[in-house]
Amino acid sequence: MSEDKKKVRIAFFDFADCEGCQLQLTYLNENFLGLLEHCEIVSFREAMSERSDEYDIAFVEGSITRKHDEERVRKIRENAKIVIAYGSCASLGGVNGLRRRFSDEEAKEIVYKGRDSHLEAGWPRPVHEVVKVDHFIHGCPSNNDETIKAVKSILLGKGYTPPDYPVCVECKLKENVCLFEKGQVCMGPVTRAGCGAWCPSWGNTCYSCRGLLDDPAEQGQTELLEKYGYTIDDITEKFDLYNRCRMDAEKEAEKK
Ligand code: SF4
Ligand code: SF4
Ligand code: SF4
Repeated sequence: MSEDKKKVRIAFFDFADCEGCQLQLTYLNENFLGLLEHCEIVSFREAMSERSDEYDIAFVEGSITRKHDEERVRKIRENAKIVIAYGSCASLGGVNGLRRRFSDEEAKEIVYKGRDSHLEAGWPRPVHEVVKVDHFIHGCPSNNDETIKAVKSILLGKGYTPPDYPVCVECKLKENVCLFEKGQVCMGPVTRAGCGAWCPSWGNTCYSCRGLLDDPAEQGQTELLEKYGYTIDDITEKFDLYNRCRMDAEKEAEKK
């Protein structure tokens, strides 16, 4: 057996998305190159033309929308020992969830203006709504440091669990002045950390691209909004940007 045969084989796949998360990985750094001592990348359209259907770990980027995508991701699941939902389009439905604001016909008309007769309007879903996902790496785009950390942990057989505390924790550790104090609304209190409070550190609102915490402190967020003169309505649309699929799933579960 060659040395390469002993390495864990990793493949990347993209569905409905901008491929920005895969693109992040092309900004290679020493940590990533170090990983290649233990893994072999066998499919990665962003950076190589070779491809293989033999892999151990499948990184699935993008939302699942069409029938054809469902069949493809099921095949990937059959082939892979481990499936990672990579980036928020895959892990949450991400910005593709905005499509759910419209009917099929409305969406086609808005995007294609009457030139849509041959196009299929899919219903965006995160990967775990179609096949079993073993690990989630959130973010839009994903954060390379977290990806490397997750892959190392998975290779060591420990799996990977993303942080389940709010972005505010990382923001406070950076000693940022809270954006609420500057007249901005921020989703940090209920959003999963792991990005190092990327946006607030640059003066930008957190739009919850890493998704809501497993058990977000809704009461705390409500009280914070009230303190600064906002209402839930002021943030609903912001939540919708990345969390629409989860909010729909929760509404469905409540009906049962
Ligand atoms: S999560 Fe964001 S960066 Fe990644 S593929 Fe989706 S839209 Fe692009
Ligand atoms: S700016 Fe946002 S993330 Fe930072 S402390 Fe305030 S609410 Fe939390
Ligand atoms: S601060 Fe919020 S929107 Fe920005 S990267 Fe982190 S989770 Fe995403």
